[in-house]
Amino acid sequence: MKWLFLLPLLTLQETPATSRLEEVLRGISLDHLKANVEKLVSFKTRHTFSRPDHETEGIGAAARWLHSRFDNIARRAKGKATAEFHEFSIREKTARNVYLRIDGKTNPRRAVVFGAHYDSINGRERDPNGPAPGANDDASGCGAVLELARLFSQHDLEWTAIFVTFAGEEQGLLGSRAFARWLKASDLDVVTMVNNDIIGNSRGGDGETDAASCRVFSAPGLDSVHRQLARYVKFLAERYLKGFEVKLQARADRPGRGGDHQSFSRVGIPAVRLIEANENLKHQHSPTDTVDHMDFEYMKKIVEVDAVVLASLFWGPPAPPPPSIENGRVRGKGIVWIRREDENELFKSVDTTRTGQADLSDLEPGFRYRISLCAATDGGAVGPPSEEVAFQPAEAESPR
Ligand SMILES: [Zn+2]
Repeated sequence: MKWLFLLPLLTLQETPATSRLEEVLRGISLDHLKANVEKLVSFKTRHTFSRPDHETEGIGAAARWLHSRFDNIARRAKGKATAEFHEFSIREKTARNVYLRIDGKTNPRRAVVFGAHYDSINGRERDPNGPAPGANDDASGCGAVLELARLFSQHDLEWTAIFVTFAGEEQGLLGSRAFARWLKASDLDVVTMVNNDIIGNSRGGDGETDAASCRVFSAPGLDSVHRQLARYVKFLAERYLKGFEVKLQARADRPGRGGDHQSFSRVGIPAVRLIEANENLKHQHSPTDTVDHMDFEYMKKIVEVDAVVLASLFWGPPAPPPPSIENGRVRGKGIVWIRREDENELFKSVDTTRTGQADLSDLEPGFRYRISLCAATDGGAVGPPSEEVAFQPAEAESPR
């Protein structure tokens, strides 16, 4: 059982954020990711209404195992972390989300959530105890949550981190809905939610392999806080990871489908879903959603995207107020984002950490733009973007 010997890494609290990020990236273990997924698959089904009390099968056994993993991480984190169950009711039964909370050092009230769903379903079978291995959907996401909880717990975090695995996703996002509402009513200020759901297969149902990109879904419209967060994911992946593309999707989720990030965006918490580039629907909600249809090297790349996003959130500054624009110049230290109003992607970004300003005089008149600012630390962490402000370049004076 490889996942049992977790070598504690050195805690380098005084090093810059970039060094700590490198340490987390180096620590991501292919063996751990695979072992996490294999263990979750071994419960045969994790259907929300499967056996709660069986020792080795069904959702109860899976929930207890997840709690034991989180508890193991919490004990190594020496007092700053706790493993918990969060109960909610579903069709007059009790179901449980399982989570790890790591208290932030600078401000424990400000929180970032990283989640996936641990329940599975076999769409072809009525019996909740029928085979539903759910390897890719979504033991893959849970594997990422466990591995990054392990790695980030070995460092001090500025803000509180919640690593959570949800139940009831397949019955309509019920676990995440209960959890998001409960957090919203708590004394925590949850600033971001990142969801991983189906991140472990690179070969689509069309036979095409894409192991060099993933997709990110977020609630509309183009100027929503969720789409800003999606652009942040893409921006960070490009900044820190070479040769892997994050593809922005102009939808909340795939047509006719949903994910747990939507439970958070519905209560006003900025939220995104990361998902593999090219799905194979044939193996979803099926007894064939097994480990042998997965590509763990590919899954690791998406976990690296998660790592750069979480590191930037945990060690970066909060979003600053929107920047001011005077005489065609943006004032503000950090990274200035410039987006054409009708486009999803950033038009460009400008590093203003030294100059404190960005010149907008080269932007083409005739287009309307949205400008925002990410604050950055001396240690190299870039925090999430501010709200956008509108900007329209002045038309050049026509010759007389
Ligand atoms: Zn799923």
